[in-house]
Amino acid sequence: MSENKIPYKIYLSEDEMPHTWYNLRADMKNKPAPLLNPGTLQPMTAQELEGVFCSELVKQELDDQTAYFEIPREIRDFYKMYRPSPLVRAYCLEEKLQTPAHIYYKFEGNNTSGSHKLNSAIAQAYYAKQQGLKGVTTETGAGQWGTALSMACGYLGLDCRVFMVKCSYEQKPFRREVMKVYGSSVTPSPSETTNVGRKILAEFPGTSGSLGCAISEAVETAVSTPGYRYVLGSVLNQVLLHQSVIGLEAKTAMDKYGVKPDVIIGCAGGGSNLGGLIAPFMGEKLRGEADYRFIAVEPASCPSFTRGEYRYDFCDTGKVCPLSKMYTLGSGFMPSSDHAGGLRFHGMSSVLSQLYADGLMEAVSVKQTEVFEAAEYFARVEGILPAPESSHAILAAVNEAKRCRETGEEKTILFGLTGTGYFDLVAYEKFHDGVMSNYVPTDEEIARSLAQLPVVE
Ligand SMILES: *Cc1c(COP(=O)(O)O)cnc(C)c1O
Repeated sequence: MSENKIPYKIYLSEDEMPHTWYNLRADMKNKPAPLLNPGTLQPMTAQELEGVFCSELVKQELDDQTAYFEIPREIRDFYKMYRPSPLVRAYCLEEKLQTPAHIYYKFEGNNTSGSHKLNSAIAQAYYAKQQGLKGVTTETGAGQWGTALSMACGYLGLDCRVFMVKCSYEQKPFRREVMKVYGSSVTPSPSETTNVGRKILAEFPGTSGSLGCAISEAVETAVSTPGYRYVLGSVLNQVLLHQSVIGLEAKTAMDKYGVKPDVIIGCAGGGSNLGGLIAPFMGEKLRGEADYRFIAVEPASCPSFTRGEYRYDFCDTGKVCPLSKMYTLGSGFMPSSDHAGGLRFHGMSSVLSQLYADGLMEAVSVKQTEVFEAAEYFARVEGILPAPESSHAILAAVNEAKRCRETGEEKTILFGLTGTGYFDLVAYEKFHDGVMSNYVPTDEEIARSLAQLPVVE
């Protein structure tokens, strides 16, 4: 089909939506390192993991051989309520930038939770329900994951207990109430409902909480309540697997019009949207069928790829979770009060970490105010109010398109627009008032945090 036939939005029909998720690990020569039991330093067994996670999800987590997993019909039906998500040709942005580059973005914000996280939330809730469980527990910081999981559990009639970092609970009443609309119970963390919560409150009365503490409370509640398991919204292999629906749809849409991206860009917090977006393209690269450039964009305030080390570390501050080999800044690393709440995790998916270590993808870090400048520019040109997290990818894509303007290269750029920013207007306000921080950790700070890593190898 000729170039000028490409519509502003490429939608797939329901029949063209993927029936399977793609497991990138199956095509990786160097497999991501296994999760380790922090006590024995041996790989976590399925049995150990099943105390915390649903059985079917444990299978997906440990399977690095099966390339395709059938998406159950019930999940595909739920996907149809908000998918396929549009692949947008950013004609307006290209025009404004006067670039010869062709820019596409895959927009995942078209659902009430406002982000891609719903793609994995429904899958995890579905398997919990299948197993006959009563409910699930989780933590939420910025609130996107808690909202997505609440929607999924509300739909399936599954109980959902969310531990929300206390300062977010108080400062983000809208997120909190949306979760309640969908039937979740939302507890400010630390709370009096768990041993770990009571201990932390006794030690630090008046603390406003942390993600690490909320994780510990959610895990404790799951393992001590019959019929409950814990679920997590990013980082894990299973989450990347579910998010492959993003990349599979994008690739089908591009193939339909004979378009091949040269560069694929995504923001990276725990790595789930980026891992999902690049999956089928990276698969082709690994099998030697095609070549692409992949760029992870992270905040300069929490630069796991660009300034962290590839080591085994805890996934949580409370050090109750298994050890994962990943690019990390140290589980004790406390990013400054950065507004891109979803990108504040100290570590990174082990799949993406291995790909990065093998030189198969690149990473850049960007500063906060530049990100908001790009966000506002994008909102004015393309209309969508982007989430701050997503705006990291916007900035990198715009920079790439500007380089094409200088070199005259007609590159095709694909980036992931992971969500909308309606719940992030306090951050936009700070940006407008000129009080947004651009804090970048010093080498000493990072070294101090890395010195605390567990010794494994
Ligand atoms: C959570 C979130 C992210 C980052 O998480 P990943 O697991 O790295 O994808 C990015 N964008 C939005 C809108 C989010 O909610």
